[in-house]
Amino acid sequence: MSDTSPVIEIQNLHKAYGALEVLKGVDISAPRGNVISLIGSSGSGKSTLLRCCNLLEDSQQGEVLFKGEPVTWRGTGHGRRPSDAAQVLRIRTNLSMVFQQFNLWAHMTILQNVMEAPITVLKRDHKDVEAAARAYLDKVGIGDKCDAYPAQLSGGQQQRAAIARALCMEPEALLFDEPTSALDPELEQEVVKVIKDLATEGRTMMIVTHDMKLAADVSDHVVFLHQGLIEEQGPPDTLFGAPSSERLRGFLSATT
Ligand code: ADP
Ligand code: MG
Repeated sequence: MSDTSPVIEIQNLHKAYGALEVLKGVDISAPRGNVISLIGSSGSGKSTLLRCCNLLEDSQQGEVLFKGEPVTWRGTGHGRRPSDAAQVLRIRTNLSMVFQQFNLWAHMTILQNVMEAPITVLKRDHKDVEAAARAYLDKVGIGDKCDAYPAQLSGGQQQRAAIARALCMEPEALLFDEPTSALDPELEQEVVKVIKDLATEGRTMMIVTHDMKLAADVSDHVVFLHQGLIEEQGPPDTLFGAPSSERLRGFLSATT
């Protein structure tokens, strides 16, 4: 039987920026091999939630668990920080993030971009990493762009390079924050195809997206966030086909 225990779990998470409460007690879990989509209006806390998963953001209350192991904290409230640097590194490298704006290094070639973190952060062997990087770039369809610089690529190609870079960390899960939002419509589909292929492979993923068709096509579970709380969640057929909350119905009719 395949292992579907959660890779990432968040329990009762509270996050504020100063006095602004952004997450007000959120529970979410990404079982191994599942694709979870996060949808909701701009400002509802989707990016913050994703960033709390891999500890790019601090939080004031609640638990973050990686493969069942709770993050250890010191301090409380706004002073709360993870206390174990090795644990933070392990979690960050295992929950690899893909950003809306690609965030490639402009002064490095595409191959160097993909190889950088496995070599400098994970101290892996140069030859092994290069072979893996070339294979991942092939996999996302830009194996011929190894020696190009980011500025020489289209947005869709740059985002596929960013996905190859995330994959080259050999992470337990991938976190996508609006991966297609910065792309022209004709380039979106080449990135959507890569994400769909990864879903078919059984990768564990959490995807923040405005693209309801993408969420409907790839997700095992969809979470609708509203003002820092989960308003409604469920399988995509139910959430999109028979939304029960008035807010979700309003959101869906405004986005399609
Ligand atoms: P979403 O991704 O759903 O659009 P975010 O998680 O980016 O929402 O933001 C949620 C709220 O938190 C917004 O009101 C936003 O302005 C605020 N916010 C996000 N990041 C910061 C920050 N670094 N400092 C202060 N406020 C922030
Ligand atoms: Mg966002």
